[in-house]
Amino acid sequence: MYVDSHCHINFPEFAPRLPELFAAMAANQVSHALCVGVNFAELDSVLEMAAAHPNVYASVGVHPDYELEEEPTIERLVDLAKRPKVVAIGETGLDYYRLTGDLEWQRERFRTHIRAAIATGKPLIIHTRSAAEDTIRIMREEGAQKAGGVMHCFTESLAVAQAAIEMGFYISFSGIVTFKSAKELKEVARVIPIDHMLIETDSPYLAPVPHRGKTNEPAYVMHVAEEIARLRGIPLTEVAETTTANFFKLFDSAQPVAA
Ligand SMILES: [Zn+2]
Ligand SMILES: [Zn+2]
Repeated sequence: MYVDSHCHINFPEFAPRLPELFAAMAANQVSHALCVGVNFAELDSVLEMAAAHPNVYASVGVHPDYELEEEPTIERLVDLAKRPKVVAIGETGLDYYRLTGDLEWQRERFRTHIRAAIATGKPLIIHTRSAAEDTIRIMREEGAQKAGGVMHCFTESLAVAQAAIEMGFYISFSGIVTFKSAKELKEVARVIPIDHMLIETDSPYLAPVPHRGKTNEPAYVMHVAEEIARLRGIPLTEVAETTTANFFKLFDSAQPVAA
């Protein structure tokens, strides 16, 4: 069984074909998924997705790409984290690729999420793009290891992965690891400790090979696992079992559902 540790199946493009999406998950042994919040406006749809499906969990956070979003406070995040099936704080982090200029507000927002995660005891889902140095620095300054969490859709260097693992964080691989061009990332997936590894789709984005360019969905997470098994020279079942166990160890308020 596989767990898709990061997806956005509440996005409106999935609404017309949710029954097919869940049927494909079951047919491909994807037993659970974490539906990740990106802002307050869409939070209800995330919570509704988790409420409607026993094998779907939710998270609460405001993504760094939402510049015009009302700024979250620690109190508001802590309060929302008490809603049913919320197992994590995020996604949060830094993105210097999509946005430029004075991004001090992103760093402040990131600190707010880390403080909320520590206050709730729930782990962080961290997004970092073209901002690895500041991401690791702020994690250290804020004591993010007290909350723990995952570096999602990881695309950074081995050194960044190791710095995050030293703080007890997990590294989550998406379909990018299946892309031929992702040579450095494949090396990271080959060498980091498997007990700090998760898999995800980040659907609807970043469909893995052989679905590259199409709309991604949780059923495709097995292709990420297949590539990791190939890179490490280990059985696919070991990747499936270990990443699933890692998921429930990290997101320890998530109750697994029997298949
Ligand atoms: Zn992200
Ligand atoms: Zn995401």
